[in-house]
Amino acid sequence: MIVKPKFRDFICVTAHPEGCRKNVLEQIDYVEKFKLSGGFKKVLIIGASTGYGLSSRIVSTFGYKASTIGIIFEKQASGNRTGTAGWYNTAAFEQEALNKGYYSKTINGDAFSKEIKDKTIELIKKDFGKVDIVIYSIASPKRKDPLTGKISYSALKPIEKAYKNKTVNFHTFKVSNVEIEPASEDEIEQTVNVMGGQDWKLWIDALMNEKVLEQGATTIAYSYIGPEITYPIYRQGTIGKAKENLEATSLQLDQKLKAINGKAFISVNKALVTQSSSAIPVVPLYVSVLDKVMKEKNIQEGCIEQMCRLFSKINSGNLQLDEKNRIRLDDMEMRKDVQEEVCNIWDRITTENITNLTNIKEFQRDFFKLFGFEYSDIDYEKDTNVDVDMINMI
Ligand code: NAD
Repeated sequence: MIVKPKFRDFICVTAHPEGCRKNVLEQIDYVEKFKLSGGFKKVLIIGASTGYGLSSRIVSTFGYKASTIGIIFEKQASGNRTGTAGWYNTAAFEQEALNKGYYSKTINGDAFSKEIKDKTIELIKKDFGKVDIVIYSIASPKRKDPLTGKISYSALKPIEKAYKNKTVNFHTFKVSNVEIEPASEDEIEQTVNVMGGQDWKLWIDALMNEKVLEQGATTIAYSYIGPEITYPIYRQGTIGKAKENLEATSLQLDQKLKAINGKAFISVNKALVTQSSSAIPVVPLYVSVLDKVMKEKNIQEGCIEQMCRLFSKINSGNLQLDEKNRIRLDDMEMRKDVQEEVCNIWDRITTENITNLTNIKEFQRDFFKLFGFEYSDIDYEKDTNVDVDMINMI
């Protein structure tokens, strides 16, 4: 099939298998340059197919030579549809892990369900005995509660007051003002149900009850804070309420894990281009300014650089958590000089000057790359096999 990008709203509904493979190989190359060692050896990654979860899995395997079980929710190709990017990423990851002799297995299904939790525990018992680290990296628009069957949807809205700010259509580079009405109480509650800590807690409870966590096991979930520009839509908005809940859950889990000398904490990561962050109004414009400022200061990081930094902190035993039980990997994003420069640019952006003042072109290219497009050494006019099998899938 000849595969080109196709969009529904802002979502790309096609993915190129060879490009996705390249994305994975580039991350592996990056990790293998370092001589990493030590620490955890049996890793469970929940949400392992794209973004921060995929990079966590790559660092664990190709950096720390750990065995991994990844939980993903992806689709393989069928009829005239390509597979999803996460499917192709994971297929490429599994193939490389096999080639280099690393244990890895993938479970494809709804991580929010009891069925997938049970399946995972069964696999851990069979192949690992116990795991020593659990990474929780889910970003989802909806969640079915496994006890009540109720489906909640996450909303990306401000709370109490409408929010007005600049935003960009990153396909046309048109800058406009967006006004988003505040969320209802029900929308806030549903967003917390999806992106808060409920499911993370269900996972850790289930893993502990079944005694498949090693003595001293660690669990981490990812969060975001961000700058004042995005506060109303992010940290003080519906998603921010969910992140507050996730962070409060880390404290509860930390207490609970003391029974096995374990630890739970949050990693506050930096803003960057992923499938999830691209869907949040205003965030793509902010990321394209941030990217320019951080590259000019030579301090830009992507998912793989962030995850290398996170795992080296964990393995060094020098976590340096803030007062809220969080590692701050957003330290460089939030630096005063960086944020002052972002604000200075922000106020001046218009449709006419956006390509000069920001890295919007790079944002667009990075977005396409998430789906395997825009790699200069791939001929996108050529037929490619979209029916990629996944080895090691349970
Ligand atoms: P992403 O969209 O790239 O990845 C989400 C992952 O969740 C994918 O692997 C997907 O398959 C998986 N997933 C979604 N629903 C699932 C389900 N029901 N069952 C199993 N797997 C499921 O997102 P991301 O940006 O990497 O986000 C991961 C975490 O990092 C989120 O908590 C997010 O808030 C946080 N974070 C993101 C940013 C950013 O800028 N992207 C910054 C800081 C923190």
